[in-house]
Amino acid sequence: MTYCSILAVLQIVAAAHVAHKMTENAPEPQKLAIQVKGLTKSFIGPPVLRSLDLEVPWGKRYVLFGGNGSGKTTLIKSLATLSRPDSGWFQVGGFDRRQGPRLRRSIGVVTHQPLLYADLTGYETLRFYGRMFRVQDIEHRIELVAEQMGVTRHLQARVGTLSHGTQKRLSLARALLHDPPILLLDEPETGLDQEALELLDALLAGSDGTHRTVLMTTHNLERGLSFGDTIAILAEGRIAYQESRDRLDAAEFRDTFTRYLGRAA
Ligand code: ADP
Repeated sequence: MTYCSILAVLQIVAAAHVAHKMTENAPEPQKLAIQVKGLTKSFIGPPVLRSLDLEVPWGKRYVLFGGNGSGKTTLIKSLATLSRPDSGWFQVGGFDRRQGPRLRRSIGVVTHQPLLYADLTGYETLRFYGRMFRVQDIEHRIELVAEQMGVTRHLQARVGTLSHGTQKRLSLARALLHDPPILLLDEPETGLDQEALELLDALLAGSDGTHRTVLMTTHNLERGLSFGDTIAILAEGRIAYQESRDRLDAAEFRDTFTRYLGRAA
């Protein structure tokens, strides 16, 4: 073998090594919409979340049951970057906490707080969020989501003067304004009338016909079971139970639910 051919072989081996390294380090196409590892959060006293792990693949609906004070809101707020966990790691939509603005543009959040501004009109509130999320064609999007949530005629009223039910609808419109691929819904049915609940169900499908990814907490057993692809229970700071809806025996689950939550809602 000549000196030149030895050199060529070495170059090929080196290039292959570099290529292998690059493949090793290349970011994997993101299979999970939400991934949580070892999330821990305390306020005063024992941790509310204790090294919680959770995964939601893209396009799936994950329903989380849990008793009062079990940490559902704390989890949703942490993932929405509205509250800072003590330790652990998570990514939502491919972004972690350090990429807060991009993470927040990937999610629509509905919590117990409507995240609206009492002194602004509904229209001004939606326009404010639209600008924050860099929504294209804001006027058109506001018109669309307001109509979808049945709040068009309330848009010119100050938010503080609206009923709780209307504020809740407006807060759903706000969550959907930027057409996010992921929804984090903390007991969304609270404060919604039957008609609004039906509207909500229709909107949970993405605008392009694909399913949005949804992480939803609820107290309502029947609603949760009919909605989720995966059904889980949060207890003692962790996912204490998790099963795919297809494999879950509804009658058995009712017992499990009662065991953890003390009653079937
Ligand atoms: P859930 O949504 O399941 O009802 P939360 O996440 O709201 O539960 O609350 C879990 C626990 O954490 C409760 O004991 C609650 O009192 C406590 N907690 C939540 N937020 C705070 C806070 N900001 N300060 C102190 N304690 C809090």
